[in-house]
Amino acid sequence: MATPAAPAAGDNRPPSHLFYQARLRRPLASRAEGIYIWDETGRRVIDGSSGAMVVNIGHGNPRVLEAMKRQMEAATFIYRLHFENEPAERLAAALADRCPAGLDRVFFVSGGSEAVESCLKLARQYAVATGQGSRFKVISRFPSYHGSTLGALSVTGHAAFSAPFAPMMHEMPKIPAPTAYLDRDGLDMAARGRRYADMLEDEIRRQGPETVLAFIMEPIGGASTGALVAPDTYYPRIREICDRYGVLLIHDEVMSGAGRTGRYLGGDHWGITPDLVALSKGLGAGYVPLGAMIASEKLVRPVLDAGGFQHGFTYAGNPLASAAGLAVLDEIDAHDLMGNAARMGALLKARLEALKPRFPFIGDVRGKGLLLAVEFVSDPETMATLPRELNAHARVVDLAFERGLIIYSRRTRGGIDGDHFLVCPPMIVTAGEIDEIMAILDDTLLALARELNL
Ligand code: PLP
Repeated sequence: MATPAAPAAGDNRPPSHLFYQARLRRPLASRAEGIYIWDETGRRVIDGSSGAMVVNIGHGNPRVLEAMKRQMEAATFIYRLHFENEPAERLAAALADRCPAGLDRVFFVSGGSEAVESCLKLARQYAVATGQGSRFKVISRFPSYHGSTLGALSVTGHAAFSAPFAPMMHEMPKIPAPTAYLDRDGLDMAARGRRYADMLEDEIRRQGPETVLAFIMEPIGGASTGALVAPDTYYPRIREICDRYGVLLIHDEVMSGAGRTGRYLGGDHWGITPDLVALSKGLGAGYVPLGAMIASEKLVRPVLDAGGFQHGFTYAGNPLASAAGLAVLDEIDAHDLMGNAARMGALLKARLEALKPRFPFIGDVRGKGLLLAVEFVSDPETMATLPRELNAHARVVDLAFERGLIIYSRRTRGGIDGDHFLVCPPMIVTAGEIDEIMAILDDTLLALARELNL
């Protein structure tokens, strides 16, 4: 059992009744605006990870605050069994407009795990309603993260998250995430993309196609893989394989969706229409807990005809969250924030790439738009990882925080081993603010190299 961390030196606050993980207590945040957060002493920190890739339109946005205030004055909570709710109706229509044709049925929830959970349950109810009750297995990838509820955890490919809960959850089959950048097999990227996709076909056959319900993946990886983008050939091949075996394709867009990558959905970069989409994070953009499952009428109709979807959460689709979500979408459109994410993302990625010659422990820079990651290696030729005991992914976060920049990190990659950090500022970031981020990162990496002797 982990022992509780002692309060940081100089911290006179009484012990907190909150508990999360065994960590040092952080400073209290007192205010946030744009890409900045101020702590109680007045120190300003750049929110270079938009919280946990959530605050896509920045902090303190007046349009969203005003819309929330107006909705709060009208009605904060109206239950869907008693009344229709106009903001939820309008937000559902606005989301359907932004999704690929055919994906036009929206089911609201309050977070990413709930969105994934909803996809798994709708898929299963659809299979039962259409006489395919033998299908229940959901194949996913490792590493991956799909949420912390037991269903979402069963498809999450990371033992550290799931192991403590066995046998409460049903462990689902996993295939490797498409870490093509690590392969030294002499194949070109197109061939590697097809090879990784074919692992899905192999797994479906191994499991028995009549038992496989769905395949879930993040089109652009989040924290688990460090913004992993597969070769272009991967995406259409995965869609083809799912179609061939009658397996539903679920895109977990909790982190990659809502515009952060420069398109509304990550899968839009490859023109893929999945059967189900899980959205959250940037949908409420940190103003309200909000998520959604988006599906086609083809999936929803048989479930409704068979008696309805046996699922739901009390707070789902409440008018306050929906009004905030609508204002977030308006803000994205009004300032072309997806265009800005594409442009500023390209600039930031180029600046991160340019660090490589000075910091040879940077093995890879990847991602799309403002979902970007930097991976550390001990040798960029072999892409061998840094020794685990250096704890580089945690140290880089702490060193950056001391210098006034928040970044986000994990130690996972193919085979669940490797250090990376994500730089994902809000979609409002300017070129001048990217200069600020890069100046701090540069100094952070110098300190890391000194400290770990890299
Ligand atoms: N799916 C992905 C890809 C995520 O990144 C996350 C959270 O980080 C989740 C699901 C779970 O979302 P939440 O923490 O809102 O439940």
